Amino acid sequence: MSRWIIVSNRLPFSYDEEHQKLTESSGGLVTAIKGIQTSNEVLWIGSLPDNVPRDLVKQTSHDSQFDYSFPELESELYGRYYNNFCNDVLWPILHYETELVKYNKSAWEDYKKVNRIFAEHIAQVSREGDLIWLHDFHLFMVPQYLKEINPNLNIGFFLHVPFPSSEVYRQLPCREDILRSLIHCDLLGFHDYSYLRHFASSIYNLLGIPSSLHEIDSQYNRSRLGVFPVSIDTQAFHRNANSQETNCCIMNYELDRGKRKYILGVDRLDYTKGLLFKLQAFELFLERNPSYIGKVQLIQIAVPSRTDVPEYMNLRAEVEQLVSKINGRFSHINYIPVKYIFNSVNTHELMALYRSSQVLFVSSKRDGMNLVCLEYIAAQEEIDPGVVLLSEFTGAASTLSHATIINPWDTFTTAEKIKESLEMTKSERSRRHHIMFNYLKGYTATEWATSFIKSMQNSSGSELIKTINLNEPKQKTAVKNLLTKKRPVLMVDFDGTLSPIVNNPGDAKLPQSTSKLLKTLHKKNHLDIVIVSGRSEEFLSDQFKDIDCYLACEHGAKFFDFHQNKWRDLVTSKKEAWFSDAQLIIEEFCKRTPNSFMEKKTYGIAWHYRNSPVDFGEFQARKLVMELEASLAHQPVSVILGKKVVEVKSLEANKGYFAQWFMDRYVEEDNIVVAIGDDRTDEDLFEAVNHAGISVKVGEGEATQAKYYINDQSQVEQLITDLFQD
Ligand code: UDP
Repeated sequence: MSRWIIVSNRLPFSYDEEHQKLTESSGGLVTAIKGIQTSNEVLWIGSLPDNVPRDLVKQTSHDSQFDYSFPELESELYGRYYNNFCNDVLWPILHYETELVKYNKSAWEDYKKVNRIFAEHIAQVSREGDLIWLHDFHLFMVPQYLKEINPNLNIGFFLHVPFPSSEVYRQLPCREDILRSLIHCDLLGFHDYSYLRHFASSIYNLLGIPSSLHEIDSQYNRSRLGVFPVSIDTQAFHRNANSQETNCCIMNYELDRGKRKYILGVDRLDYTKGLLFKLQAFELFLERNPSYIGKVQLIQIAVPSRTDVPEYMNLRAEVEQLVSKINGRFSHINYIPVKYIFNSVNTHELMALYRSSQVLFVSSKRDGMNLVCLEYIAAQEEIDPGVVLLSEFTGAASTLSHATIINPWDTFTTAEKIKESLEMTKSERSRRHHIMFNYLKGYTATEWATSFIKSMQNSSGSELIKTINLNEPKQKTAVKNLLTKKRPVLMVDFDGTLSPIVNNPGDAKLPQSTSKLLKTLHKKNHLDIVIVSGRSEEFLSDQFKDIDCYLACEHGAKFFDFHQNKWRDLVTSKKEAWFSDAQLIIEEFCKRTPNSFMEKKTYGIAWHYRNSPVDFGEFQARKLVMELEASLAHQPVSVILGKKVVEVKSLEANKGYFAQWFMDRYVEEDNIVVAIGDDRTDEDLFEAVNHAGISVKVGEGEATQAKYYINDQSQVEQLITDLFQD
């Protein structure tokens, strides 16, 4: 069984100096990891505060479900990494609080230093077959550093916070470095599809690497993407909530549930949690529903967080001012509307609060998941459960189907939802709770972890095909030997393969020498040649008029059989539904982008920007792809970003489909297919022929499905000569 190495910024301990013992720290990440039950060996790596005695931690390993290991980090360096970069830069930007970002270059350098120390420590303690699972934004640079030390390590990364819209993320100065590091991972996991989507579009917008919602192929790796909403140890919370200790706490609280209803809030005192919105909505609720004054109390646990940081001090002052204002306004001698506790509580106290309150109120502005609402559901009495009032800006809002969803910025509607929650009938509360509790019973922290690990195990076999350099004489001879045993068929692309890329597509010409070579190879060596190109029928007919070869134009939408001297259409879908819309969008981009132009074909439209200002052209091209994809989402088209060209074309106009169609009809058992191409559209061709022959990518260093590569177009003619001439 493989060992799991879990890595997080901190190990889950702090040191209680008074009682000289380790205490467990709290927080979403710790709750999730601690909830994992597995028979696999687990090693948890994380840093430790200076004051934690190291031997106590080693001792703890013996009695715990995990082993622990820690890199030694000098405390000043750690402070700069953690406070000045993790908390002052990454935390706010990932939560859309861009105004609070305090970027400074030296903190970024410290962040990288600490990440490198983590990577070195992990590499040192890891063994072959280990699965390395990195947690959260503190460790963004570790994947790249780790793969540089040992490219064979299987690395997964889970992000516990949101990944923001690419429009927000791109404000981060070191944005590309972080993305580049992350795509060294074998698996990247997010709580929610929206986070995954934002990440994929950032990869595309900032690195120019196309990404599906499943995987990203880059020169570094093939990275799988997945959605794994985190969960809790549901049974443990349920047990705890019904324990003797919890019952004792409930009695001690002396909350009078007969007379009064309780709304509970449990949040770290952080600007992402929307505490001011919560208080404003509660105040408005009391103002608009005076009959509830005296009958409803908001119990707010505000767990202290970063108490020495000015923004947090200010937030605390604002929250406490508002609490005082509400209490001053609505209190009676024996009633305080807001019971505010600036402290943390222990598990049993928390369970007691969960069980004693009729409504849990989560008003986060942004929250990766929010575990408090899951715990609340697990803790409820099934015969009389409470209601979850939940911000739509939490990851949990996508998994808790029957919570009452609010937009915390809309305090007016939130106030109405508070009333609705308090007045919800028991049968409706039970119905909703039953569905959510069942979900949590079936999907626990253990399921979360095992589904992530299972995906990691599946991803490990899916590395990119290792492409071999065909300029090496040994490799060339090996391929040549293969070809002599069978009758080769050459499927070859035109632009960037047979002919060099030129500024004006109309100027491209098949070089005389190549033309002569192809003629000879067909006549003397009986080589079957198929030109597979995105070009039009007219263009290919003209360029190859003297050569006996098959032609597939517009990426295989039309096919010319030179034996029969006949063209035939291979596209059956109608283009009327999308062609004119696509044309309108592309015309707009032509106007906005200097020196770009449109090329209309029978089954597609291309937008060329090879003469446009380089950076602006690339920027516009990515925007155009997104715009075409969004506008033509339900049409039978594909949109492709090629070399200096964006193309929208009928779905069937695909070199891969064409290659399969051709091989089914023209290629026999004793044939071997050799495909050569340079562009993204040729990847479909390579994939289709790989099982039946050989594929060669022209150009080095890009991710490809091809088995072989040569460095550039100038070597193509020589390669064809070497491979096919006797
Ligand atoms: N928690 C705790 N003591 C407290 C308040 C909260 O142990 O006084 C725990 C709570 O049970 C939950 C975690 O802290 O497991 C908070 O996780 P959440 O995802 O809701 O928010 P985060 O603090 O991670 O942003």
